[in-house]
Amino acid sequence: MSNREEKRWRHNQAAKTMRSMRKEIKRNRKPKRVRRKDWNTYQLHGLDFLEEVDYSQNERVMPRGERERQRANVRLGLELLKREGDQTVVEEVSAVDGAHGQPGTVVEVSRDLCRVELGQRSLVCTLRGSLSAEETGYTNVVAVGDEVIISENKAGQGVVEAVLARRSVLARPDVFRSHLQQVVVANVDQLLIVASWREPHIWLELIDRYLIAAQKYSLLPVICVNKIDLAEDLESCRATLEPYQGLGYQVIFTSALTGNGVGTLREALRRRTSVLAGLSGVGKSSLLATVQPGLQLRVGQVNEQSGEGRHTTTQVVLHRLEMGGCVVDTPGMREFGLSSLRRGELANYYPEIAALATACHFGDCAHIYEPGCAVKAAVQQGQLPASRHNSYQKIYHSLPA
Ligand code: GDP
Ligand code: ZN
Repeated sequence: MSNREEKRWRHNQAAKTMRSMRKEIKRNRKPKRVRRKDWNTYQLHGLDFLEEVDYSQNERVMPRGERERQRANVRLGLELLKREGDQTVVEEVSAVDGAHGQPGTVVEVSRDLCRVELGQRSLVCTLRGSLSAEETGYTNVVAVGDEVIISENKAGQGVVEAVLARRSVLARPDVFRSHLQQVVVANVDQLLIVASWREPHIWLELIDRYLIAAQKYSLLPVICVNKIDLAEDLESCRATLEPYQGLGYQVIFTSALTGNGVGTLREALRRRTSVLAGLSGVGKSSLLATVQPGLQLRVGQVNEQSGEGRHTTTQVVLHRLEMGGCVVDTPGMREFGLSSLRRGELANYYPEIAALATACHFGDCAHIYEPGCAVKAAVQQGQLPASRHNSYQKIYHSLPA
């Protein structure tokens, strides 16, 4: 393809996506107007998706669901413009939501402050007092990963004016009001599960636990097995992970030491927001530093020389990748655990066990003790890897009945 042809092809692809986004924006539109008569109507590049948007004056009086609907439209609108790749238009559009703001991404949160990245620079922002989390069902207004609209005064102080609709949410019980949930990370697409082949020894049960968490939170899991330079023979390494590939999971073998597999890892991280999971010492920091030189993972550490530190932050930090995409580092990944899962539900998270279970003698078979269990039979016949059944049993016993 010549340059020109490629450009046209890309343009057509983009146009297709944009057509479907426009449709969704239309669908999102409320059938009749409420309350205010002075909604803004804007026409830019033939797009009128930002009509009727004004966060600054309407925060508390919106009918239920209204704000989410508006945010969804603003988000789609911004996304559209980003795709059109016209920086000036992005600024123009975000200015219409009454906030004279710019779009940015929240990369750190601490109490009532957050750090927002706007293109090349970042700004510590307060939250507009009228913003409320009430309607979202969560206890916090902003979380790491949120896309926001901010305003900035002449002194360079930033204020978050609006939080755009979230694609996804990782939440945990709120520290003080445990019946409510707190958003820990927003807009995550995938879970990068990092394990090491040796030092520490590969731990399949933990991989399974993360895979279950990924299913619960609708994240795309990617398994990365690091330190393959320590493998006695690569075949046993591949054979151990083969069941996961068989289930359709992407498995990447890497060595941060030799650089093996790092290219594949880069591709997997590109243009997506990934949350990192894995034991300490498996090589997460080393890998990320190889993917992007200069990227320093460790959170919650104070720089002793400058005295500057991150001790004020909740321990979640989002790192942007130059190639596009983000990596979220949170030691709290454990907390998105399986606490709410019951024993009887576990098999649903093992697709191959769930498929076999229909042939078990007992309808409520736990696939551990029962006679006539099709799952145990499959293990004996080598159709189901014993390793998967082993970790199933271990996790089963760790769950509430
Ligand atoms: P993290 O705690 O998961 O971030 O792990 P680190 O990146 O700090 O790595 C822990 C230790 O493993 C360090 O001593 C690294 O040098 C070492 N390490 C990391 N990746 C590899 C690898 O691919 N091969 C080997 N042999 N060592 C590695
Ligand atoms: Zn069974």
